[in-house]
Amino acid sequence: MEKIILDGTVVAKEIKEKLKGRIESLKENGIIPCLATILVGNDPSSETYVRMKGNACEKLGIHSIRVHLPEETTTEELLAAIQGLNEDETVHGILLQHPVPSHIDERLAFEAIDIRKDVDGVTSAGYGQTALGFGQYPSCTPAAIMEIINYYKIPVEGKHAVVVGRSPILGKPVSALLLNENATVTTCHSKTTNLPDILKQADIVVAAVGRPKFIQGPWLKEGAVVLDAGYNKGNIGDIDYEACLEVASAITPVPGGVGPVTISMLLKHTVDSAEKNKY
Ligand code: NAP
Repeated sequence: MEKIILDGTVVAKEIKEKLKGRIESLKENGIIPCLATILVGNDPSSETYVRMKGNACEKLGIHSIRVHLPEETTTEELLAAIQGLNEDETVHGILLQHPVPSHIDERLAFEAIDIRKDVDGVTSAGYGQTALGFGQYPSCTPAAIMEIINYYKIPVEGKHAVVVGRSPILGKPVSALLLNENATVTTCHSKTTNLPDILKQADIVVAAVGRPKFIQGPWLKEGAVVLDAGYNKGNIGDIDYEACLEVASAITPVPGGVGPVTISMLLKHTVDSAEKNKY
């Protein structure tokens, strides 16, 4: 059986190439697309993610504002920082890096982001619009997974997609996007009792568990398409890559799979927002 490695770096490059002309046109009209990232505290992984996102912006000519707040920031202080960015007409997208320290009401903070600037689909309005099929900006990782599927022309309609994970930024929205594309979707989570049996029926598997090498090769159906959103310490995904490669017909590597496309989707959504909200 022919195996396809779903190369996220290729997909990401194409997305970024397409953005270059659009960014130039905006600049000719005096608009510099701008993404503001907010990091609260000093979690090293979060610092790395935010740095990568800011660097990716700057490389492409998107302005990046990096707000770094101390660990002891209160919910009210964070809300005030978000409000300032909502009111700043030069800012087109706001990304609050998840997770925030546990004493902060993260949901309240997400909800404070202006829907026009919610380029990572974290507000309940953004999520609802995604689920209903008219979302402007679905969460970037789910959007990246769909981009990879589209780029490699993987059939979705009528297929059984099994998503492992139901977080608000990943498992739930990617389930909704697959459903909108007419897949039959099963969403699994930590209380699912017969995960290997369910996975055995899956034509498409999305791993969004947050546990390294969690999904095992023998759990998969022969020829399944496997998309691994997982990103754990040591660049390890949520699937046992070598074992799943044996069984899958197409598979994303980690690193170089979903991750780079996620960043490209964030850039794309920021440019989309700059075009829509010309201030
Ligand atoms: P999360 O909020 O921790 O959610 C994990 C989900 O997995 C939860 O729904 C949980 O179920 C489920 N789960 C945990 N143990 C399970 C088990 N034994 N069996 C079945 N389901 C189980 O994580 P997340 O933010 O969605 O992230 C998931 C992964 O994607 C992580 O590896 C993260 O690093 C990665 N990620 C990657 C990107 C990227 O750009 N590539 C972006 C975001 C996240 P319950 O709901 O029942 O607790």
